[in-house]
Amino acid sequence: MSNSLLPQNIASLKAYSSAKSEKLTGSTWLNANESPFNKAVELSLDELNRYPKPQPEAVIDAYSNYAQLAPTQVLMTRGADEGIELLMRTFCEPAKDSIAIFTPTYGMYKVSADTQNIAINELSQAQLQRDQISELSERIGSAKLVFICNPNNPTGSLTPVDKVASLAKALENSALIVVDEAYIEFAPEQSAVSLLQDFNNVVVLRTLSKAFALAGLRTGFLLANDAVLNPVRKVIAPYPVSTAVAKIAEQALTPDAVTQMRRQVSILNSNKSKLEAWLSKSPLVTQLLSGEGNFITLQLSDKTLISNAMKAGTIMRPFTLFGEDNWLRISIGSEQELEQVKLWLEQSE
Ligand code: PMP
Repeated sequence: MSNSLLPQNIASLKAYSSAKSEKLTGSTWLNANESPFNKAVELSLDELNRYPKPQPEAVIDAYSNYAQLAPTQVLMTRGADEGIELLMRTFCEPAKDSIAIFTPTYGMYKVSADTQNIAINELSQAQLQRDQISELSERIGSAKLVFICNPNNPTGSLTPVDKVASLAKALENSALIVVDEAYIEFAPEQSAVSLLQDFNNVVVLRTLSKAFALAGLRTGFLLANDAVLNPVRKVIAPYPVSTAVAKIAEQALTPDAVTQMRRQVSILNSNKSKLEAWLSKSPLVTQLLSGEGNFITLQLSDKTLISNAMKAGTIMRPFTLFGEDNWLRISIGSEQELEQVKLWLEQSE
């Protein structure tokens, strides 16, 4: 097949390098901000000869209850990643519209935009945290979607919900504020869900991949009012959620399962504080970004240390941040898994 069949934006696309797409071999997986808690699920399926419900009511009801919203404010997607892509497909016109992102941030915003030939107005996390609303709105300019990752992956920074509200107000007639709350369960006070009472131009992205320990399920949610969700309902695939996924998601959202999730979050937050305290004393760690989420991002004195960890089977996520390639993001695993991190650094000294 001739390459000329490919549109230019696809030919030059750099694919998202996912946690499992590389040929990595390891015994301790701390590279994808997954949960270390593997839960047992029960699955008995019938009527697989029939198509599933496009939006399974039991899951929508359970999630709306959890998020304290009305069921009409919840749309289930194939992971938060599908939510990101759907918002661009619905609200952005290729080769015409743009989105705004605050880097460093989650890589899929760029991949999704590039795939769909949507321009990116790249601002910085520092600007988001520092600038006044008037200045920020000016910089955001004509962007249709403004992605605020909260807490931000990989820096852990939190944008106060008041600031999100002010930005939504300032851009009420020009942009949709997309608040990516993939990690919000680790810092629930700053959720933007309450803004849906006042704003039609806010949409919150959620997932079961992190605190709910179900990355393998591929389930996310878009939380918004009709003004956002009704157009998205026209664009989403007819049956995005398989019968099996719906059954498991329903089990993950019972009151008991939510209590268990919160217990696991507090264990992970405590594992994180302990590891942070330990890392802050390591002579090989030159900078530690202290933030929210089930991960710690740090700078090492020497980037070759990372390959030693990989060789020993401890897989973490290397990053180039602020122009330097010796950054590392460590997902918060079990205490035993985090012992491997300490062992690696101790042996490297
Ligand atoms: N948003 C952020 C900030 C993430 O870090 C991730 C996954 N790493 C996602 C969204 C995607 O989540 P999901 O697994 O639900 O597609």
